[in-house]
Amino acid sequence: MRLSAPAAPEAASTVGFEAPAQLDAPYGVYIHIPFCDHICPYCDFNTYAGQSERIPAYVEAVKRDAEHWSPRFDRRAAASVFIGGGTPSLLAPSQIAEILAACRETFVIADDAEISMESNPSDLTERYCVGVIDAGVNRISIGAQTLDRRGLRVLGRRHESGTTAAAVKAARAAGFTNISLDFIFGWPGQTLDQWRSDLDRVLHGEVGGSPPDHLSLYGLIVEPGTPMADAVRRGILTPVDDDAAADFTKLACTILDEAGWLRYEIANWASGPEKASRHNAVYWRNGDYAGIGAGAHGHVGGDRTMNQPAPQRYIDALRDGRSPITNTETITERTAMGETMMLGLRLLQDGVSRKAFRLRHGIAMEAQFGPSLDRLRDLGLLDIDHERVRLTERGALLANSVCAEFL
Ligand code: SF4
Repeated sequence: MRLSAPAAPEAASTVGFEAPAQLDAPYGVYIHIPFCDHICPYCDFNTYAGQSERIPAYVEAVKRDAEHWSPRFDRRAAASVFIGGGTPSLLAPSQIAEILAACRETFVIADDAEISMESNPSDLTERYCVGVIDAGVNRISIGAQTLDRRGLRVLGRRHESGTTAAAVKAARAAGFTNISLDFIFGWPGQTLDQWRSDLDRVLHGEVGGSPPDHLSLYGLIVEPGTPMADAVRRGILTPVDDDAAADFTKLACTILDEAGWLRYEIANWASGPEKASRHNAVYWRNGDYAGIGAGAHGHVGGDRTMNQPAPQRYIDALRDGRSPITNTETITERTAMGETMMLGLRLLQDGVSRKAFRLRHGIAMEAQFGPSLDRLRDLGLLDIDHERVRLTERGALLANSVCAEFL
């Protein structure tokens, strides 16, 4: 699965995510849980159904994997932990607690670290949420995807909108003060009215009694090789075209802007700056992160790593005392600078700081990318001032092409 993001509104103020991160900045810890109840037809993540009997051994492997990472970060502090998937809420709270305890033994995790986990709405009861809060989780991301019943079936989801509402209610009752909902727009057959209804219901607290604190909104792209792509090829489903996708995007921007939400990243809105995702900001700031779990990617000290994707092979490697890393790529400084631009420009409010660029890469941004910056500014795609470079509204619409200029 690949999900496109909507177009950007005009950049206004900053959120405080200075990009790029410096080499000694706090890092993030990502932990991948590659298990799901079933595989959704649009999904191309590294995830597996029917393997939940492997979860206990997998938790042990994750704990050992964390130990392998600790020397790479020495005594630097981690500012965030993100348990993603797959479906991390298939794990019992005690297993989440074990993983987080192992992380605390291994990494120096800041007292105020953001500790997030992704979840399936069907798994969230108040008791479950209390359990994961006790384990140390302080931010929960819930995969709502849509509130429309037909949409949920098209996306192959097995929950109902009422399940999402119950999950939000349970998370609030348990004490979560940072709840994010994921939505997918532009699914085959979706209308603008249905999309408006989803957003209105969420913002008016009709989903669980109160609005969430954060929204991630992704436009669906049908990836080759997925069952959904096959259904499109056979004429069973018709994906929305580019013009319609742009209309969905504009509607989301208008509704959330009117509601006072902050679009701080191309696909992410927060109810206030303090609710912006600090873990994902590590990626957008081209910062370092440990990549723990089957198929997880890591990024530290100029290297990019990838773990063995198959859960049993991952478990076997760690059980045998072997590293699960199957691929390490050393990132050249030229590539790192390009990635700084490509990732940092996604931060619509903060953009890429010229000062931080020089400190991180040892060269002025304009010395490295002067002709590209000039051309993109002249085309109205970049807004450049003495402090930072940001995408304009038009630049955000063409973000992929703008970013490709720097790679
Ligand atoms: S729940 Fe998420 S990770 Fe699992 S198959 Fe569906 S889209 Fe993929």
